[in-house]
Amino acid sequence: AAKGDGRGVHRFYSSEMHADAEDRRQMEEDLRHALASDALHLVYQPVVSSQTERITGYEALLRWNHPVRGAISPAVFVPIAEESGLIAPLGEWVLRTACRDATQWVDDIRVAVNVSPIQFANPGLPALVMSALANSQLAPERLELEITESVFLNDDDGTDATFARLKAIGVRLALDDFGTGYSSLGYLKKAPFDKIKIDQSFVRGAAVKGNRNSAIIKAIVSLAEALGMDTTAEGAETQDELALIRQLGCSHIQGYVYGRPLTAEDVLERQRSHGTLALAEGFQSS
Ligand code: C2E
Ligand code: MG
Ligand code: MG
Ligand code: MG
Repeated sequence: AAKGDGRGVHRFYSSEMHADAEDRRQMEEDLRHALASDALHLVYQPVVSSQTERITGYEALLRWNHPVRGAISPAVFVPIAEESGLIAPLGEWVLRTACRDATQWVDDIRVAVNVSPIQFANPGLPALVMSALANSQLAPERLELEITESVFLNDDDGTDATFARLKAIGVRLALDDFGTGYSSLGYLKKAPFDKIKIDQSFVRGAAVKGNRNSAIIKAIVSLAEALGMDTTAEGAETQDELALIRQLGCSHIQGYVYGRPLTAEDVLERQRSHGTLALAEGFQSS
C-alpha cells in the first residue's frame, strides 16, 4: 500500500476520471498535509474588458505542487477536497488569501474566487465572506464569487437566503461554466448574478467557419444583456477566437490569448511595468 509520506509510491495520480479509491485516499491525506504546511498557492489569471482592453480583474486559481508527484490539477484535487470535507478549510484559506492579495492591486481591480457548492451550502459562508473582507480591508464590490449551476441542485430556502445575504454584503456574483451544467434558465431569473461566464467549451473552436458555438455565445450574450449581466468568455486562446468573441459582444474575456495565470508577485510586477493595459499575444509591443 502507498506510504503516508508519498515516498516509494509507484503509482501516479491519474486523470480525474480514473483516480481509484486508493489514489483518492492517498491524495486526501497528502492534501490535508499540504493545507497544514502551506504547500498550496494561488495564481491569478487576468480578466480583460473587451471595450478598453484593460485588466478589470483576476481570477484566483488554486495550485498544488506535490513534493513527489509535481503539479496536480484543481480539477482533480478539488473534488476530493469536496468529498472529504477538506473544502471548508481549503476554501476559507483561498478566500482570505485572495482578498489579502487583491488589496495590493491598483485601480480597483477585482478578484474572483471560486466557491464550491459545498461551501455555498454552508450557512456560515456569508459570515466568512464578511470576515475575509474585514480582515483584509478589501471593498466588497472588489470581490466576485464564482459559483456553478450545481449550487442549485440542493435548491432550498437556505440557498435563497445565502444569495440574499451575499448581495446585502455587496460582493459580486458570477455564474461559472455556464452552459455545461443543468442549464435551467430559471436560475437566471431568481439568482442575482452580476455576470455569466460562458464556458470555454463554447469558446474553443467558435471561430471555425460554420461552427454552431458562435450562435450559442451570441444567444447567451443577448440573454445576459437583457438581464443586465456582464459576460466573460472563458478560454480564448487564439487571435481568431478573440476577434470573434469581441464581435459577438462579450463584455469580458479571459484566456491564454491575454495571459496564463500569474503568481501574486508576478501580478504586482506586471502592474508596475504595464499598469492595467492588457496585450493580446501576437500584439506584444516589446
Ligand atoms: P474555472 O473556475 O472554470 O477556471 C478556469 C479554468 O480554465 C482554469 O483552470 C484556467 O487555468 C483555465 N483556462 C483559462 N484560460 C484558458 C485557456 O485559454 N485555455 C485553456 N485550455 N484553459 C484555460 P484550472 O486553474 O486548472 O482550474 C480548473 C477548475 O478547478 C476551475 O475551473 C475551478 O472549477 C476549479 N478551481 C480552481 N481553483 C479553485 C478554488 O480555489 N476553489 C474551488 N472551489 N475550485 C477551484
Ligand atoms: Mg471560475
Ligand atoms: Mg469556468
Ligand atoms: Mg470549471
